[in-house]
Amino acid sequence: MKVLVAEDDLTSRSMLVNLLTRWDYEPVAVDNGNSAWDIMEQTDAPMLALLDWEMPGLNGIDVCRRVRECNSENPPYLIILTVKGETTSIVKGLDSGANDYITKPYNNDELLARLRTGQRMIKLQSELVTAKQALAYEATHDALTGALNRRGILSRLAAEITRARRNRRPLFVGLCDIDYFKKINDQYGHQAGDRVLQKLVTALQNELREYDLLGRLGGEEFLIVAPESMAVSVENLYERLRHKVECLSFPTIADDLQITLSIGVVETHGNVTIDNVLAEADAALYRAKRSGRNNVVVTLVGIEKDPVDHSVSLP
Ligand code: GH3
Ligand code: MG
Ligand code: MG
Ligand code: MG
Repeated sequence: MKVLVAEDDLTSRSMLVNLLTRWDYEPVAVDNGNSAWDIMEQTDAPMLALLDWEMPGLNGIDVCRRVRECNSENPPYLIILTVKGETTSIVKGLDSGANDYITKPYNNDELLARLRTGQRMIKLQSELVTAKQALAYEATHDALTGALNRRGILSRLAAEITRARRNRRPLFVGLCDIDYFKKINDQYGHQAGDRVLQKLVTALQNELREYDLLGRLGGEEFLIVAPESMAVSVENLYERLRHKVECLSFPTIADDLQITLSIGVVETHGNVTIDNVLAEADAALYRAKRSGRNNVVVTLVGIEKDPVDHSVSLP
């Protein structure tokens, strides 16, 4: 494990480097606070640091403050190692954001024990970060298909609506529903139905651009949010998806089955609420179903007749 040693005194620095190496750490030694800060800013910065207080450039306390200002989710463990032993200095050092404070001359065994404490805290912290990320992922993703779940896709839709409104750019929101899906469950079983949902999501994701969003609203209903970009037109996206799905084959033990999608699409410039978009997409989907299914129906919502001209006009 890498340990930053920031110490301007050559003898003290060499002693620390020797000790750390003997204890199987990888010391990264610098002789001033500015270099210490440069190293702590790097992406692969040491997670453990021994900082002297008095150093040229930034002092150890300044380095602590700067590191804490970064508000990282996985911050390093900082130990001030100094001759300043009065209570006011200890308080100031810990208040600057140091995790621990050791006074010189230090006892080697105690220094090692405190480094190990730091390591334990770092391990705990990183386990917490991993658990938090896993929970955040689970809260926004569908367990069966891996697509965004209802909460995930609706929060991304809210952000895209705001962006479309700000940039006056078109946004397309397609509500896709598998036609006669109940029959598949009835005929081939629920597990076969599940596999159809999984394969459908993979197939749809392969067709989408990286900035398009796919989420499972529930059951056999999916939302596909496609922001319009200058370069790519999405007008035909939903028709292309419908056609792609119609051509897919889903193998089951009995035989290969086919499915079709009905899609209700809303085109908007963002002057809408989420409820508004969903209701309009649902109405368009209903029309697609009524017209015989395996169909795409597009509806315009809140599109301004006189969009803002972004071109620069000379005085
Ligand atoms: P329509 O063309 O009108 O959409 O007909 P439909 O049969 O697709 O619609 P309906 O709403 O009647 O049925 C949807 C079915 O989707 C019912 C339900 O059993 C099935 N379903 C919902 N969630 C899942 C799931 O996670 N797995 C499986 N296998 N089936 C599901
Ligand atoms: Mg010093
Ligand atoms: Mg449905
Ligand atoms: Mg259906």
